[in-house]
Amino acid sequence: MKKLIFATSNEGKMKEIRMILADLPVQVLSLKEAGIQADIVEDGTTFEENAIIKARTICQMTNEIVLADDSGLEVDFINKEPGIYSARYMGENTPYTVKNQSIIERLKNAEGDERSARFVCVIAAAFPDGQVLTTRGTIEGRIGYEERGENGFGYDPILYVPEYDMTTAQMSAELKNQISHRGKALELMKKELMKELK
Ligand code: IMP
Repeated sequence: MKKLIFATSNEGKMKEIRMILADLPVQVLSLKEAGIQADIVEDGTTFEENAIIKARTICQMTNEIVLADDSGLEVDFINKEPGIYSARYMGENTPYTVKNQSIIERLKNAEGDERSARFVCVIAAAFPDGQVLTTRGTIEGRIGYEERGENGFGYDPILYVPEYDMTTAQMSAELKNQISHRGKALELMKKELMKELK
């Protein structure tokens, strides 16, 4: 069976990925399972560029099909910040309560639709013949006026999703997975891979 490497060392992500890609005719491996250790410099300027850099680098090292993702929070009022810098915003080790308060503060003059924001996930696939493709999924919402909810991680307590009248940190893990940016991007990628693997 063909191999497909997902370029992440995050076990939580691997679980979701294996579930969604289960019915593809490929063996899904994490970086660790593929025996790869790589320190990749993500110096792209978009989610797409960063995901492609990761997928391509590992693909060139292994000659297998490689998927990689890049994700973050885009806040329209502040020019789509923190965007690709979501993990690094205010420093990698700054607690998320501080990062979240900073974003709320920067939006103090924004009301209603002006507070629009989204989680974005882009997945890139790199093939040994040099071909690359990307898919994108989002969760659309608004930045709340305070942190709400205890679930999830990162910016979850400040992304309020009007459709569900809660932040993504107030959602159960099951609900968040069902509507997640990563899940949506992965489902789209699965459709693309089905065509490629025929
Ligand atoms: P990564 O590229 O998937 O590691 O994610 C980059 C950063 O985006 C994370 O460290 C978080 O700050 C933020 N982020 C991405 N997805 C989510 C989410 O579902 N909830 C909260 N924060 C997220």
